[in-house]
Amino acid sequence: MRAPIRGGRGGGRSFGGRGDSGGRGRGFGGRSDGGGRGRGGRTPRGRGGGRGGGRGAGMKGGSKVVVVPHKHDGVFIAKAKEDALCTKNMVPGESVYGEKRVSVQNEDGTKVEYRVWNPFRSKLAAAVLGGVDNIWIAPGTRVLYLGAASGTTVSHVSDIVGPTGLVYAVEFSHRSGRDLVNMAKKRTNVIPIIEDARHPARYRMLVGMVDVIFSDVAQPDQVYILYTFCKVVPSVCIALHEFLVA
Ligand code: SAM
Repeated sequence: MRAPIRGGRGGGRSFGGRGDSGGRGRGFGGRSDGGGRGRGGRTPRGRGGGRGGGRGAGMKGGSKVVVVPHKHDGVFIAKAKEDALCTKNMVPGESVYGEKRVSVQNEDGTKVEYRVWNPFRSKLAAAVLGGVDNIWIAPGTRVLYLGAASGTTVSHVSDIVGPTGLVYAVEFSHRSGRDLVNMAKKRTNVIPIIEDARHPARYRMLVGMVDVIFSDVAQPDQVYILYTFCKVVPSVCIALHEFLVA
């Protein structure tokens, strides 16, 4: 286990879970922080609306937080009174969807900010907490992400791959795409593509070589969509094969 990063202040209510690599998070109480969906409809992004979105961005509150690396590179656990899965914020000072942030100070005095990653908002986070063996996404990885929606999970994938990685984020809804594009303005490693994932020929010219394809289009034909992509862009076949086998 790598050395923990110590010294931060934080202690939001959203901390929870065992905090060991892959342990199930107990403390992501779904709607416990920031109010649930349905309190007067959509709330502006970044202001604490939605499931699990916290009011307390910044996590000021008192208790000491220690951040330790998770078994998956680029993923961390903030350990406090309760523990939380988190990723290192590519854009310090900014929340994307109202999630809490925790800032810790390294021994050399530099500060690092993490964003809490809520498994009730992200299937990938749920898979990590559920103990999935490999997410194939790590610092430096280039990811083709199908079904990006407003960019909730994409933003954490962007944190994980970091400045040396890339996320091509495909979404066909213009409403969600607007949020996605705004998010990508600040995250230089996210390339938003507002297109139908089922027609890769329409956007293949925007996508370079990728290491991983992640698909969450939530449609019955999503495996077929991956297959279509594989036929049009043979260079990603190996990644696709690994993805399907995994
Ligand atoms: N992955 C997102 C996250 O974790 O933040 C949530 C994705 S949501 C379950 C599924 C998304 O896929 C919706 O935003 C929907 O508009 C999008 N979608 C469905 N079919 C699509 C298609 N053929 N091409 C592009 N996007 C599609």
